[in-house]
Amino acid sequence: MTLHLYNTLTKSKELFKPLAPRLVTMYTCGPTVYNHPHIGNFRSFIAADILRRYLEYYGYEVKQIVNITDVGHMTTDDPAPFGAGQAPSAEEGEDKIQAAALREKKSPYEIARFYEEEFLRLSRLLNIEEASLYPRATEHIPEMIELIKKLITKGFAYEVSGGNIYFEVSRFVEYGKLSGNTLENLMAGARIEVNREKKSPLDFALWKQDPKHLMQWDSPWRSDSPDKSGTQSGGKGFPGWHIECSAMSMKYLGATFDIHTGGEDNIFPHHESEIAQSEAANEKPFVKYWFHTRHLLVNNQKMSKSAGNFYTVKDIIDKGFAPRVLRYALMSVHYRQPLNFTLEGLDAARNAIQRLLDFKNSLVEIIFHSTSATTVESRPNREKEVDSDMNDIKKIVESTRERFNAAMNDDLNISEALGAVFDMVRDTNRLALSSGKAGMVLRMLEQFDSVMGVLSEEEVNLDDEVKKLIDERQLARKNKDYKKSDEIRDKLTKMGITLEDTPQGIRWKRKV
Ligand SMILES: [Zn+2]
Repeated sequence: MTLHLYNTLTKSKELFKPLAPRLVTMYTCGPTVYNHPHIGNFRSFIAADILRRYLEYYGYEVKQIVNITDVGHMTTDDPAPFGAGQAPSAEEGEDKIQAAALREKKSPYEIARFYEEEFLRLSRLLNIEEASLYPRATEHIPEMIELIKKLITKGFAYEVSGGNIYFEVSRFVEYGKLSGNTLENLMAGARIEVNREKKSPLDFALWKQDPKHLMQWDSPWRSDSPDKSGTQSGGKGFPGWHIECSAMSMKYLGATFDIHTGGEDNIFPHHESEIAQSEAANEKPFVKYWFHTRHLLVNNQKMSKSAGNFYTVKDIIDKGFAPRVLRYALMSVHYRQPLNFTLEGLDAARNAIQRLLDFKNSLVEIIFHSTSATTVESRPNREKEVDSDMNDIKKIVESTRERFNAAMNDDLNISEALGAVFDMVRDTNRLALSSGKAGMVLRMLEQFDSVMGVLSEEEVNLDDEVKKLIDERQLARKNKDYKKSDEIRDKLTKMGITLEDTPQGIRWKRKV
């Protein structure tokens, strides 16, 4: 395999070579489950899905972990603006889940489980392959405590009065190697902090004690307020966001794994801090390839609620766009290019998928219904109808495969790869196809779609149901039961299926 992937760590395209011969280990920073995910979040999840599907297309087995952040992600953990040299700090601001719980007058667990379910539902709708596991942060507190203890023992973390634990950034000399935010850069831009308990304003929280926090666990670290029973045990507290991903990736993928994915806004401080914690604890490289998706713009502007251009995935689906249309729109621009998202762009995506679906349906129809060679698009007044031989078709299929693979091997150049697929559609449409030739093209299209993931959505079940309804309608017409026949046609229309009577029988098309 000659896949070259851009690695944020080395800032260059590198030949991809996993640690094990046939298995790829991959960790995707999952959602913080406190609100409806927006389309930018899902651009990143879909990019990771395309990467995973392409590795599988090549025959790799992929073990993918997508974590669920259900505690500890503070409002101040995110960089603002992107990539600015700002000190990572988890000791200010609010826990996003707790804030949502207070706002919605629910428990933080109710909030977390509700939005986790919503995230999983949208992932299924958008045809994102299921991860091997979706570990929740709240179910891995003992692992986080163990890791923090190890960091204290090794001298990379320290406890202050009140039981808060900080990572001492200056002790990890390679801090900044992912984001370029080195200690010198950060110190130059650091704000003057009021928090005097930290050795340096750059140190970030691993464990935080806060009596007002609604989600708390026992810790080995002391608290200023002993519990009422009088036993001076450790105080209660909750973990920082960064330590969660280090603990969970280590548990399921080992000290070193192949690929870590996320949005570009995760690079700093989140991923930079993950590297520091994991490498300080294990004294081994953490991740071989760092894969980051760029954020998207909506109508050429940064998405924001105040600008009125903020879309959740649910908003788009509620507007009547099929999930696969959104998937196509989000994946069809290279993951490291800025994507300008517009509603017109969704219309174009819908047309593109419609073209592919029509093509696929025509191939299926030739395979199952034709006795003699027929053109894929059997328009009566076709100008060019060239009789094809098997070699022509083989040539088209093979050259498309080569172009598709070459494009994807070049850091997943999906727009080039899609271009190759559409050229195959155009070139094949010019030719007369027998059922054997149509079968060859269909198999190729299905392989491409194992990467694109836009044509297969519940295809099999839907095909069976449509065929059953068409047969029922034919029977009704034969029995002159036109009322029933019309009812069935209406039902099919509602399903997005249009029927067309042809001399060869009924043809059907699906609208996206
Ligand atoms: Zn993470």
